[in-house]
Amino acid sequence: MYEVLIVGAGISGMRLAQLLQQRGTHYCLIDARFRLGGRIVSQSMAEGVQPESGHHRYDLGPSWVWPNQPRINQLARQLGIKLYPQYDQGTLVYQDQFGSIDTTINAAPMSGSLRVQGGQQSIIDRLSTKLEAERVWLNHTVRSITQAEAGVSVKCATSCGTKTILAQRIVLAVPPRLVAKSISFFPKLKPEQTQVMGDIPTWMAGQSKFTAVYSKPFWRDHGLSGDGVSRIGPLSEIHDASPENESRGALFGFFGWPVQQRQVPEKELIEQAITQLRQMFGPEAAHPLQVSLQDWAADPLTATAADVEQKVQPQCGSLTELDHLWQGRIMFSSAETAKGFSGLVEGALEAAEKVFNDLIVYGVNH
Ligand SMILES: Cc1cc2nc3c(=O)[nH]c(=O)nc-3n(C[C@H](O)[C@H](O)[C@H](O)COP(=O)(O)OP(=O)(O)OC[C@H]3O[C@@H](n4cnc5c(N)ncnc54)[C@H](O)[C@@H]3O)c2cc1C
Repeated sequence: MYEVLIVGAGISGMRLAQLLQQRGTHYCLIDARFRLGGRIVSQSMAEGVQPESGHHRYDLGPSWVWPNQPRINQLARQLGIKLYPQYDQGTLVYQDQFGSIDTTINAAPMSGSLRVQGGQQSIIDRLSTKLEAERVWLNHTVRSITQAEAGVSVKCATSCGTKTILAQRIVLAVPPRLVAKSISFFPKLKPEQTQVMGDIPTWMAGQSKFTAVYSKPFWRDHGLSGDGVSRIGPLSEIHDASPENESRGALFGFFGWPVQQRQVPEKELIEQAITQLRQMFGPEAAHPLQVSLQDWAADPLTATAADVEQKVQPQCGSLTELDHLWQGRIMFSSAETAKGFSGLVEGALEAAEKVFNDLIVYGVNH
């Protein structure tokens, strides 16, 4: 029997695992996916495309951290990962609802934010080297949690069949709305407890992100920062995503179109996004070396139907009603459960630290 079973190997679950490992706790970390990182994932250049100098990857999930976020800045330092400023020199390109383009606007909405060298996945990769491999199991989807005499009994689906894991305590490092939707509890939770979880929106879960990589950041030569705002779309908000050493150029954008409007073949969406980048940033934008499209609304391990319907990025909620659930046998740790920087990577780390401290109070590993 494990002292602590952590469900969800996004950055929150991984950070908690690191803390428990340093303390010598008998823990296990599982995730439904075949990879670590959850919403943090970055893409390398495809095989066959000449590699750039330095190994940069392009973020399909989060891109930014901020200097006022102590935990992620410290973690990056500890892991030997460099953060570099978001490019903010030059003007923003604005496309109005009639398609007219204005390239004279002096605004840099993401100025002051930082990007992660090598992509945010570098954090996940380095963090994973701090965990004992035999304690980390992928391809384990939790279906149910049953109260047991000395803890919990957890049923998981794996590609080899069903598996039961016993633990004294379980930490759900999974967005609460996803827990409410996909995990059964025995005895059943009260309806209001399930409701509380279901009411907490999962940060950015309904978003879709498009990235185009070029041989160089050509827009900079024209005095453009790479920032863009469009009232037509498909991309509504665009930013420079180039590596710091300019060995390549990259633009990324969030789709402004709601999920229903995005229900066209991916190839078509990509063509429309490239056409829009050409209109806004000039003819060189028509020839990317590589593109990627990540629609998080279509990812069942992030988004639920409720997230997909959300039009505006919502505020996260509070789970205090679920503190000490089953006498503290069930705990929650995800970006959405943090009090500060809720929904963000910093929040995910804050949540992990809070649970770690609570586990110590509960006497784990004494
Ligand atoms: C497009 C996009 C852009 C973003 N931009 C930023 C940004 O610029 N800056 C920022 O700070 N934040 C940003 N975020 C938010 C950031 O990604 C999250 O705050 C952070 O990654 C959440 O980490 P987490 O560990 O809490 O959750 P997750 O990363 O979601 O991890 C949860 C894990 O649980 C697993 N799981 C789910 N259900 C089960 C189950 N039943 N059994 C087993 N495992 C399960 C999932 O596979 C997943 O790996 C962005 C997010 C997105 C999607």
